[in-house]
Formats: sequence, C-alpha cells, structure tokens
Amino acid sequence: MHFVEAKGILTENHGRHGMNIYRGCTHGCIYCDSRSKCYQFKHPFEDIEVKRNAPELLEKALKSKRQKCMIGTGAMSDPYMHCEEELRLTRKCLEIIRQYGFGLAIQTKSDRILRDIDILDEINHSAKCVVQMTLTTYDDDLCRILEPNVCNTKRRIEVIEEMQKRGIPTIVWITPILPFINDTRENITTILSECVRVGVKGIIDFGMGLTLREGDREYYYAALDKHFPGMKERYIRTYGNAYELPSPNAKELFKIFKKICNENNIMSRPEDCFQYMNELPDKYEQMSLFDL
Ligand code: SF4
Repeated sequence: MHFVEAKGILTENHGRHGMNIYRGCTHGCIYCDSRSKCYQFKHPFEDIEVKRNAPELLEKALKSKRQKCMIGTGAMSDPYMHCEEELRLTRKCLEIIRQYGFGLAIQTKSDRILRDIDILDEINHSAKCVVQMTLTTYDDDLCRILEPNVCNTKRRIEVIEEMQKRGIPTIVWITPILPFINDTRENITTILSECVRVGVKGIIDFGMGLTLREGDREYYYAALDKHFPGMKERYIRTYGNAYELPSPNAKELFKIFKKICNENNIMSRPEDCFQYMNELPDKYEQMSLFDL
C-alpha cells in the first residue's frame, strides 16, 4: 500500500454523496469491475492507495454542508480491507459522520465491520445507517475461489443478522451471478431464504448476470483458466466480447427472486433500494424488534 494526500474526498453524483477512503482492493474477487481499465489506475490494483487525510477532508466537507444527507462508501473499494485493522481510517470517518449528524450507507464483504458496530448503531439512532453486503454463493469452496481474501457468505449472513438485531437495516447485493458457475436455482434460493430469515430490507440484482470490460475481463478469464478449465472458451463461444453476460438461467432465477421478495415484503427494485439508501428523512423511524 502507499499513502497520498488527497485533494478531496466527498463526491456528489445526481444528489448522491459518496466517498472512497481507499483506492484499489485486496479482497481478490475474480469478477471485480473496479479493476477495469476505465478507472485509470496508475498503480497495481492490490497496491492500495490510502487517502491518509480522508478524515480531515471529510470533516471539512461535512462542516460546510447546510443540509444533512446520507454519505455512501464502499462502492469502488471495500472500506474493511485488512489494512483498515491497523489504519482505522474508516472508523475515524464514521466518527465524523456521527459527530456531524449525517447518515451512512456503507457497503462491504468483510466481517471487520463488526468492530465498528457501536458507531453504526449510534449513527442509526442519531440519523440513519444502512449496511450493504454482497452475497454471491452459499458454497464455501466456491466462495473461496470467487472471493478469496474475505470472509465467506455464511459469515456475512451472521454479520447481517447482527446488524438487524440492533435495528440497523441491511441491503444485500446478489450480484454478480456468473454464468455456468453460481447461477443455479439452489444457490439463489438458499441465499434468498437466508435473507428472508434474517430480515433484510432490500436485495439488489441487475438481471442475474455479469458484466465484463477491459482489465476486468482479462483477470476473470485468467481465474477461469486456473479454476474452471474450459470455461473461458465456453464464455467466448456464448458471449463473444459482450459487456453484458446474462446467465442462461436468468429468467427463471429472476422469477424466483421476485417471488421470494414480494412474498416477504423485501424491496427488490434497484431504484427503490438506492432511493432508500439515499433518503435521510427528518424523522427516521428505527426498526423496532417487532419489525424483525
Ligand atoms: S470487494 Fe469489491 S472492490 Fe474489492 S475486489 Fe471484491 S468486488 Fe472488487
């Protein structure tokens, strides 16, 4: 990893405020879009760029905001990579968000987020906090291949359960669904039943498939060659050089997804989930135990 003094930390895009304290990621997900060429990394993706002055920049930005809003983090790089254990920059930023009364929508795959559950709880009481987790496969062996350097799905579900128990709402990303790999009825049904059991608020799906582009595609194909011999050729035969690679089972899986979400009152349209995560109402009603 290497340290930089960043010029700014908070970005605004269509009324959504977001920040990335780190740039690059060490979780090693084989399908990671963030490593795509279009993001113009000037350093190896695993050589994490640490924005050392992120807390100071955040404090300055929040102080000057006239209206409180939700702050998103974790979209491009996981805020709970291994280096966060020692650096504690994410924690410092959460403390600032709490101090200035802003809301938080945070996304991770790591159980390290539990270290900060006290602050998340406080933010949820003083403003609003939403925790997002990605779940792609319930198979532990497959999970070790797809997302090698982070805790497995079962552990992530325990984290979600902990959040829900505290009344902190959770959103699950059930993406990407990799054609011929995790796109089975059994996998989707098992993940969704766990989401129902622990009471997640919403689930985000983008059509039961995967996207690939330059940089990301090469990395993914190399992983396929290593772990699934012959699979790369199957992908090339089926999808050529396409950006969108929907699973051949997409329709069936989407139907199951919709049915389970509708029956259990779980938000299932991405736009509803995003709106929920971006809204900071004047009067935010925390979930009570009766909602669980
Ligand atoms: S956690 Fe997200 S950013 Fe990190 S490697 Fe996985 S997909 Fe990429």
